[in-house]
Amino acid sequence: MFWVDADDAFAYSMLSLAVLFVLVMSMSLMIRANFFLTARHRLDSDHVMLTFDDGPHPALTPRTLDILEEKGVKAMFFLIGKNIEQYPELVERIVREGHLVGGHSYHHEWSIGFKTGRQLTQELMQPQRQLSEITGQDERYFRPPFGVTNAHIAYAVQQNKLKTIGWSLRTYDTAADFSTEKVARIVKRAKPRDIVLLHERMESTVEALPALIDGIRQKGMEFGVLTAKS
Ligand SMILES: [Zn+2]
Repeated sequence: MFWVDADDAFAYSMLSLAVLFVLVMSMSLMIRANFFLTARHRLDSDHVMLTFDDGPHPALTPRTLDILEEKGVKAMFFLIGKNIEQYPELVERIVREGHLVGGHSYHHEWSIGFKTGRQLTQELMQPQRQLSEITGQDERYFRPPFGVTNAHIAYAVQQNKLKTIGWSLRTYDTAADFSTEKVARIVKRAKPRDIVLLHERMESTVEALPALIDGIRQKGMEFGVLTAKS
């Protein structure tokens, strides 16, 4: 007879969580490898594009925009549907100031890796509709949350003609020890055509941003965004 006591049940649920975590992490590695879907990871021009994920954020998006304005840098924002719903005026400001926007799923939850069909389409397309309503254009740029890709996401992306944008330079700015001191390391790795992954929900990222922009410029590179061609 198979019988599980309370402690075993706890151990089993921890084990399933660990398996789930490894599974989702390995799926997220695949966006770089273009395993399931073709994502753009570099620009066509020699510029460097800064991308900010997970906004809009009520306090940190305005600070990010102020810095970009002051430095004269155009960037790209991958926005979460539920945040767009809460702060549409911040999306309006992002667009008004000449930055590009893309969708980054509605809920931004790990469970996206397990959604299929209509539920997955809704998760991907709701932010695109929200953005299109704000910009008055057909918004198709998309970045999967956590970089998760699988066959279902690839199918939904293709069916809805989304243009997936990845990255070539990861900053690890969500790590607890990220600080302005880490900027030199990122600047050293930066190359023309790089797409840089940043998160404007992180205060440490916003604080490090002026030094990052200055450092990349000191290496002789300039900033730009995707063009219609790219
Ligand atoms: Zn994200």
